[in-house]
Amino acid sequence: MMKTKTLGILGGGQLGRMSALAAARLGISCVIFTPEENSPASQVAQKTIVADYTDERALREFSETVDVISYEFENIPVETITFLQNLKPVYPDEKLLNVAQDRIVEKTYLNNSQIPTTRWAAIKTTEDIEKAFKDWNSSEAIIKTTRFGYDGKGQARISRDTDLETVWSQFKNQALIMEEIVDFDCEISVIIARDINGNSEIYGPMVNDHKNHILDRTTMPCPLDKSIQDKAKDAILKLADDLNLIGVMTLELFVTKEGEILANEIAPRTHNSGHWTIDACAVSQFENHVRTVCGLPAAPAGRHSDCEMINLIGDDAKDENIQHYLNKENTCLHLYGKQDIRDGRKMGHVTILKSHT
Ligand code: AMP
Repeated sequence: MMKTKTLGILGGGQLGRMSALAAARLGISCVIFTPEENSPASQVAQKTIVADYTDERALREFSETVDVISYEFENIPVETITFLQNLKPVYPDEKLLNVAQDRIVEKTYLNNSQIPTTRWAAIKTTEDIEKAFKDWNSSEAIIKTTRFGYDGKGQARISRDTDLETVWSQFKNQALIMEEIVDFDCEISVIIARDINGNSEIYGPMVNDHKNHILDRTTMPCPLDKSIQDKAKDAILKLADDLNLIGVMTLELFVTKEGEILANEIAPRTHNSGHWTIDACAVSQFENHVRTVCGLPAAPAGRHSDCEMINLIGDDAKDENIQHYLNKENTCLHLYGKQDIRDGRKMGHVTILKSHT
């Protein structure tokens, strides 16, 4: 008989919610730690502690109620993880979190691991921007804040003609990175679950289409050549082994028109592009998240159906649209329990199952 554990999850969003639901299936209960009242995760968890991530008294109380701790988004202060690690095991550990929180550390880590990225430069002054344009001989680029950016927030496209003073004032003294724009064929992602014994399982690669910088649709399987798919899988496997990952990690990549892969971002967690695994796999990314951080073996990541996942963003979650999905065949609807529809807010998703594999 498996020893029942209590899993603590930092963060109360939909990723935590879906991990808590997967945990429940395994008889594992979850305690959520979040600054948000009535969060999507707390609605399905055994207990929630509502407090700030820097509240040491609350963090200590949290650690006393759980056996093991994980997190569902990467913007938890590293100091919080360091504090908790002295009290209970935390997976993935702070090394991965440090890499994933800062785009410059991340790109440096990827390049040192021989994983190609687009050309990039750390930007401290407007002269650095001019220099990068000149060095790269390009006329357009993307400026991003090195930290706390997501879904296209904290980034701006610029050209040689852009008024750099305006760009500068937009980012108000934040650390910046400049990236060459990739004229990509498509965007893909791979998700790995790696257990305490070093065994890994990989979902994907899957193809991701974005609208307004937010994931709109994920398609599985990916129509790319096996050799390209293997490069993406090799890259995430190398990262996971080098970091001695315990838990789940995602790698987002661009595929160039020449069939090269360029890594864009590492997420130290489950990912929106892996939501389809709930309905199209025997064991989802969320169950593998729970399994691996709780000391259980990573389960095979194989799927039983081809599928497409569509995000329900903002008004997509209005009643009439939901009705449409409720009446559709082979359609698995997921709603995250968020009270108010807001522009750009991820409200839910649907997975449409296609042929059996
Ligand atoms: P990110 O926050 O880095 O994941 O960027 C969000 C989205 O912006 C990506 O999924 C791409 O669609 C687009 N994007 C980001 N960086 C680049 C780049 N260097 N070249 C082309 N498109 C990009």
